[in-house]
Amino acid sequence: MANAAQVQRMSRLMIKTLRDDPADAETASHKLLVRAGYVRRSSAGIWTWLPLGMKVLENVSRVVREEMDAIGGQEVLLPALLPKEPYETSGRWEEYGDLLFRLKDRKGADYLLGPTHEEIFTLTVKDQCTSYKDLPVILYQIQIKYRDEARPRSGVLRGREFHMKDSYSFDTTDEGLAQSYALHREAYQKIFQRLGLDYRIVSAVSGAMGGSASEEFLAPAAAGEDTFVDCPSCDYAANTEAVTVKVEPADGAAHGPVEELDTPDTPTIETLAEHLGVPASATLKNLLVKVDGEIVAVGVPGDREVDLGKLGEHLAPATVELVTAEDFTDRPELVRGYVGPQGLAGKAFRYLADPRVAPGTAWITGANKEGKHARNVVVGRDFEVDDYLDVVVVEPGDPCPKCGTGLKIDRAIEIGHIFQLGRKYADAFELDVLGQNGKPVRVTMGSYGIGVSRAVAALAEQTHDDKGLCWPREIAPADVHVVAAGKATQTELALEVGERLGAAGLRVLVDDRAGVSPGVKFTDAELLGIPTIVVAGRRAGEGVVEVKDRRTGEREELTVEEAVARLG
Ligand code: ATP
Ligand code: MG
Ligand code: MG
Ligand code: MG
Repeated sequence: MANAAQVQRMSRLMIKTLRDDPADAETASHKLLVRAGYVRRSSAGIWTWLPLGMKVLENVSRVVREEMDAIGGQEVLLPALLPKEPYETSGRWEEYGDLLFRLKDRKGADYLLGPTHEEIFTLTVKDQCTSYKDLPVILYQIQIKYRDEARPRSGVLRGREFHMKDSYSFDTTDEGLAQSYALHREAYQKIFQRLGLDYRIVSAVSGAMGGSASEEFLAPAAAGEDTFVDCPSCDYAANTEAVTVKVEPADGAAHGPVEELDTPDTPTIETLAEHLGVPASATLKNLLVKVDGEIVAVGVPGDREVDLGKLGEHLAPATVELVTAEDFTDRPELVRGYVGPQGLAGKAFRYLADPRVAPGTAWITGANKEGKHARNVVVGRDFEVDDYLDVVVVEPGDPCPKCGTGLKIDRAIEIGHIFQLGRKYADAFELDVLGQNGKPVRVTMGSYGIGVSRAVAALAEQTHDDKGLCWPREIAPADVHVVAAGKATQTELALEVGERLGAAGLRVLVDDRAGVSPGVKFTDAELLGIPTIVVAGRRAGEGVVEVKDRRTGEREELTVEEAVARLG
């Protein structure tokens, strides 16, 4: 008996394929997912998942679920509509700025649509777990997230509403957290391998999550918005956002007051140089900031200029020096920044000491090869000092900081991100459990994300060809696409093959549409990207079909029996 659920007739499937690319689409995944009828744009960055797209999305979710369950993750579903208060407690109501969708209920109370859920998971565990015996625990959900992205584009690659698997680990010890992190890292490797994604694990910055250690899973693709460096000889790989400089903790640093220098609010390089007593040239093209002889910042144009005010807030006792490219010719790979004639943002200070921060903490700015892609991160807050690499690597061929081999630089899509948060949220929400000795123990956390909807687009980016989508089997909306290329005889045979393949446990789509030419059906079959195409055509009368591999194009004529035996 055929398993009807496994056989989908295209004549009854809600699908409208398009011959032309959507006008605003730039990336292959955007064009093809729309043209093949998997998704449709609802409004900017907000997408409807149509039946075939939904199947792919569900397949990705299933793989994610299976591997999360395998490491002991427990699935939950938290609300997406959240009250403001927990995000005020953590500081992220403010910190997230325009990225947050904020709304009010009828009584005027503030709400938000969850961009990520550290706060709410922390509160859930605070409510549910009281003893060290209740931990460790790993909780996850697959849920729709909301971020009012400045540039929603590339279709579902960057949505304002998107599907994410987010999980959170809760442990009582640092070793426990390291173990939970390692479990996730392994699960992610399995997930992305099963999804058929080509990916790299790279060092990352922690962004708005806070915390210390963090790695990203990047899928190399031209359409990606991330840039990463990759060593062809060793395992070194890092997001350029995270490629920074080493800052040695200042030994036994003596803490003292910060001395404000008498400079204008927006000092120029010249006034700064003058105040700091370092040489400045009128034609400064590059700027490095050295603290006690170590480079801590690279200046770049626009809003990423070295902010000496911020730099100082986080500096251990140190002498701040401005170094020009000319002064740094012995390590030219470190010199990529540019400070324009408009000068530096912020006020100048001479930082003698700052008792608020641990020695070795400093602001870092990194730059990509265009000198644009820079971010401020704080060593010690976003990273362990030991995680630091001592080179700012920004151009292809720059030496790998581990082995010296010339590095490659590639574009990639961030498909996953894992963080050791530590106690940031546990502190904010006073998340303690009773320890073995009866005393409260502060919990330590990790948070781990996978872009489920983004993974669909990343796969489309990596696997498509000039004819259309080209799914790996595990993720494809069906295993076999049977085309009835002709009239009654062909349709009859196509349905028979479909039924028999379905009965053999395969997921089958049968293109039984009447009044659609074989040419159009073939084109659609290539566009849809189901891994095996079976055509009931010219030799249908003899019970012979053609079996074609979508990826390789290899084709073979087989009897129905042979085809079922081969594919089933
Ligand atoms: P990006 O750098 O691309 O903006 P992110 O670092 O802000 O991503 P995280 O906060 O680390 O994202 O979220 C976890 C995962 O969710 C990401 O690794 C990514 O796969 C996915 N993701 C994040 N933002 C989006 C988005 N706007 N659309 C689709 N997926 C997203
Ligand atoms: Mg983001
Ligand atoms: Mg990111
Ligand atoms: Mg991230």
